[in-house]
Amino acid sequence: MAILGLYIHVPFCSAICTYCNFNRGLFESGLKDRYLSALEQEIRASAQSGEPANTIFFGGGTPSLLEPKGIARLIGACRDSFDLAADAEVTLETNPETSSPERMAGFREAGVNRVSFGVQSFREEELNRLGRIHSAERARAAIGEARGAGIDNLSLDLMMWLPQQTAAHWRDNVEALIEVAPEHASLYLLELYPNAPLKEDMARAGWSLAPDDDAADMYLWSMERLDREGYQQYEISNVARPGKASRHNLKYWQDGEWIGFGCGAHSTRGGVRWKNVSSTEDYVNRVRTSQSVVVDRRELTRDMQLEEALFTGLRLSEGIDIERTGARYGKDVWRTFGGALQPSIDAGLAVREGARLRLTREGMLLANEILSVFV
Ligand code: SF4
Repeated sequence: MAILGLYIHVPFCSAICTYCNFNRGLFESGLKDRYLSALEQEIRASAQSGEPANTIFFGGGTPSLLEPKGIARLIGACRDSFDLAADAEVTLETNPETSSPERMAGFREAGVNRVSFGVQSFREEELNRLGRIHSAERARAAIGEARGAGIDNLSLDLMMWLPQQTAAHWRDNVEALIEVAPEHASLYLLELYPNAPLKEDMARAGWSLAPDDDAADMYLWSMERLDREGYQQYEISNVARPGKASRHNLKYWQDGEWIGFGCGAHSTRGGVRWKNVSSTEDYVNRVRTSQSVVVDRRELTRDMQLEEALFTGLRLSEGIDIERTGARYGKDVWRTFGGALQPSIDAGLAVREGARLRLTREGMLLANEILSVFV
């Protein structure tokens, strides 16, 4: 039986960032209270004879807008409903403006042992352009507050290829990250969805993005810089100190199983995938009236499971064992996909070493194109 990951979605934010395409809305105290009760009810209703779980991930939105006692209530519901490992990884996505020494101590006491800070940039003008409401100084202070509360597993998110960002600006951000020494970091390229307010801001203000080649250079430079600092890249966008890779996120990339709670949350277990209703109000009302919150449920065929395992597994630096993965789903991976993958290998974007197939860093930059052979 797979050991589950538990994902808990908290859809509230203090302000909406101009690039954000996540399932979130503005914080509202009354709705927050009703949502918390619904979440607890959904978790407790899912209890199935103490299934083993070893991660909890509070994502959002901004889950750190909840009070520590709210987080404690939800962790308690998980403990009562699942056989949660004593050393479970419990991550709280946190925005720097929601942190204080007291709140961090409260989260730690509630059972949080990993904090993932949405820092995005250490440059004020970049934070302003993104609509973030914290300053670089607040981000540094929040990191200190988490350390002060005894959190010894910190992650930082940074975004690269921002409007008006030069390679030198980006390098400064990476150096600032190295200085605050998190155990884990996620470096994402900004993706502009079609109606993002940031797109309009860019047009109005005449802000531009650096050319694509510069984005590739920024990515490759930062991964090499972090290598030299002793971080290990383990996924396209993620690096960690040895042993500090995100155990929860690895479940998504290593063909694992997880249950998502809350509005818009996805779950995958036993070859079945389902999704909860996206609207927060709708979710709360359905839980309160004992209706199902699931709006989409699909049984995955073995072919779909294999394609998914390849698609996500190749995001990892170590790649995947195609023989073992193929055997699990009854298919010869190379015979099925080898022809389509060979050009990427010839171009130095992927490597096949015995049964192991992986992308090179140059390949990671083109992962979406390369991995599209599986879908
Ligand atoms: S804090 Fe995160 S979830 Fe909230 S609006 Fe900003 S990017 Fe989106």
